[in-house]
Amino acid sequence: MKKHTRLWPALEAVGGLAATMLEWRALAGPEYPAFQPYLRPRQELATSYPCPVRGRFGVRHTIVQDGPDEYAGVCPEGCPEQKLSKADIVIYELNVGMLIKAVRSVLKLQGTAAPVDGAIAAYRLGTHVRRTGYHMPVFLALAPGGSGLRTAVDRIAALDDGTFVLLAPTAGQLDGDCEAVLEKRRARFVALSDLVGVDGKGRLKASRSMEQVIEHPHKAKKARPGRKKLSDDEVSRRRKLWAGWCSVRGKGGQKKAEYCRGKGVTQTFLDNCRRLIEQRETRGQT
Ligand SMILES: [Zn+2]
Repeated sequence: MKKHTRLWPALEAVGGLAATMLEWRALAGPEYPAFQPYLRPRQELATSYPCPVRGRFGVRHTIVQDGPDEYAGVCPEGCPEQKLSKADIVIYELNVGMLIKAVRSVLKLQGTAAPVDGAIAAYRLGTHVRRTGYHMPVFLALAPGGSGLRTAVDRIAALDDGTFVLLAPTAGQLDGDCEAVLEKRRARFVALSDLVGVDGKGRLKASRSMEQVIEHPHKAKKARPGRKKLSDDEVSRRRKLWAGWCSVRGKGGQKKAEYCRGKGVTQTFLDNCRRLIEQRETRGQT
C-alpha cells in the first residue's frame, strides 16, 4: 500500500478549496485520477491562475478572452502567453460531502456528520468508539488559509467540555496557540497525511488505526529556529569538504563519502554533514 497521497497537502495549497483544473492537475501530478471524485465544477470561470514559472512567489497570470472558446493567460512578468480553452479555466471545488463520506468510512466512524457553527470548513465527522466503549468525537478542520485552524479549534473547544480528536489535512497550520487549546482539553491532533493514504487503485486507506492514533499521537514537527536553507554552491562546497574529510576517516567514513559522491544526498545526511563540518571549522581544521 502506498502510504502518502498528495491530496492532503493539495487541499492546504489551494485557497478556498477551489481552483482551476490546471492547478489541481499540477498539485495532483500522476495521482490526478484519484483526486477527481472529490472535485466538482462550479458555474464559474477563473480570472487568473498561478504563473507556472513564478507562481510560488505569488505571481498570477490574468486570463483574457480572445474568442468564444479561446482564452489566454497573460503574465505580468513576461512569460510567453498561454492559450487556454474554457475547460481549462472552469473552477473546480472540493466536494466536501464526498470527502467526509470517504474519511468516515475509512476510519469506521459512527454517528452523523455536521458542520461546526461559526467556523469555515470545520465539521464534526462522527464518533470513534474506543475498545473501552468510550465514545470520542472526531472533527475535521479543512481550514483553508489564514487563521482558519485557530478559529476551528476555538469553536470546537467551545462545543462541550470533553476531549476529542481533531483531524486536519496536514500539521502545517498547527501553531503554539492551537496546541495550547488542544492540550488543555487533552484533545488529539492528527494530520490526515499521517493517517490516511491511498492504495494501488487510488482509493483512500487508513495507514494507522484510530486506536493507535489516540494511544500514540504524532508530535507535530516544529521548525527548528536558526536553520537556513543552503544554497547549491554551499551544498557542493560542503559535500567536497565532507568527502575529503571522510576519506581520511577509515572504513565507515569511506562508505559515506562514496554515497555522497555517487548518489546525491538526503536532507538528514546534509544536516549531519553540516554539523560535522561546523564542528571541524570551530576547531580550526578547515
Ligand atoms: Zn508567468
